[in-house]
Amino acid sequence: MSNNETLFARAQRSTPGGVNSPVRAFRSVGGTPRFITHADGASFWDADGKRYIDYIGSWGPAIVGHAHPDVVKAVQEAAARGLSFGAPTEGEILMAEEICRIVPSIEQVRLVSSGTEAAMSALRLARGATGRDLVIKFEGCYHGHADSMLVKAGSGLLTFGNPTSSGVPEDFAKHTMVLDYNNPTQLDEVFKKMGNQVAAVIVEPVAGNMNLLPATPEFLKAMRDLCSQYGALLLFDEVMSGFRVALGGAQSLYGIQPDMTVLGKVIGGGLPVAAFGGRADLMKHLAPLGPVYQAGTLSGNPVAVAAGMATLKIIQKPGFYENLTKQTRKLIDGLSAQAAASGIAFCGNAVGGMFGIYFKDKIPTNYTEMMTCNKDLFNQFFHAMLDEGVYLAPSAFEAGFVSAAHDDAVIEQTISIAKKAFAKLSK
Ligand SMILES: *Cc1c(COP(=O)(O)O)cnc(C)c1O
Repeated sequence: MSNNETLFARAQRSTPGGVNSPVRAFRSVGGTPRFITHADGASFWDADGKRYIDYIGSWGPAIVGHAHPDVVKAVQEAAARGLSFGAPTEGEILMAEEICRIVPSIEQVRLVSSGTEAAMSALRLARGATGRDLVIKFEGCYHGHADSMLVKAGSGLLTFGNPTSSGVPEDFAKHTMVLDYNNPTQLDEVFKKMGNQVAAVIVEPVAGNMNLLPATPEFLKAMRDLCSQYGALLLFDEVMSGFRVALGGAQSLYGIQPDMTVLGKVIGGGLPVAAFGGRADLMKHLAPLGPVYQAGTLSGNPVAVAAGMATLKIIQKPGFYENLTKQTRKLIDGLSAQAAASGIAFCGNAVGGMFGIYFKDKIPTNYTEMMTCNKDLFNQFFHAMLDEGVYLAPSAFEAGFVSAAHDDAVIEQTISIAKKAFAKLSK
């Protein structure tokens, strides 16, 4: 048995499925999950000492590359000053100021510890501030695992082909309406019927939890106009797209101002920081100022905030996103060319440092089209790449991530490995 196999067998004795988050279990692609021992730059190593070029980057946070010296130093210095106080620190102010400056639609922000917590709290605030219960979400978007969002949610659930989670009371789920992504006509119809009952529309403006699927400008505009017209709030879940598709997130790329934004992943730089923020007149409903309750023992944790601030500093260096976008495009173009050379129906898409690969002849534009991608071919490709040392997301329905450490040599090595992998598939 390999060390990975031994560890996986052992893990399953003390943890359900051997993992602490379901997609890590490789259920969708089959095989044994790799247990990671350490990482550096664009790579990590598993328990058998094998190196992989990493294209998940902790599902987004590792945007500056793993174990970046500036981030590690900031964490070490913060840790030496004490790990957590349960009282405010100046670091939290600095981070709040930085977020408000980078994302102008955010006038005030509250720090929390996970994207799930941030989305859940933002929705409670939206319901509290509007006095309405109904929330609209879109099929294939993931907003964490709060009860009201596990209504045909994407990501791990999609992978399992499980439309809802057991344990969520129907009474909770009935306050969430699930509509088609990129379908402004349907949204318009629903608003005409019940727009004045809608507290909020929550959306991933660049969806990354059903593979990569950007919203169309028409869809985003319809959302903004309808929410304004009917007094509903527009919530952008930019946990994945924030500081990833562009410094200011999808809202800066598409020029749409949400009422509230949910952030996570990159802002913690690999440690648990997430946030929700927006218009000050909405945020004032939050405790201790207002009646909407929300709290957290480790919210704004000083070590986590230090990692996040060090990361935010690096990504604001001139040319950071130009380079990230260029490298991601280079990867997608290279993979597409190799697939074409092997006669495989394949295409790719990228927004900033986030990408999608589709075993299909055309880039999918909605959830239904996404589901027609060839999952078997993806799984074979995934394992062919993994064997040769390239770690892609272990599911056909997850986005991929490039970091600043993915230089030309790394991208070229990936493409030459893909050439062999595609050639194997065509046999
Ligand atoms: C990852 C993610 C979440 C959940 O964040 P966690 O920190 O895993 O709880 C929510 N929304 C989106 C869009 C995400 O990608």
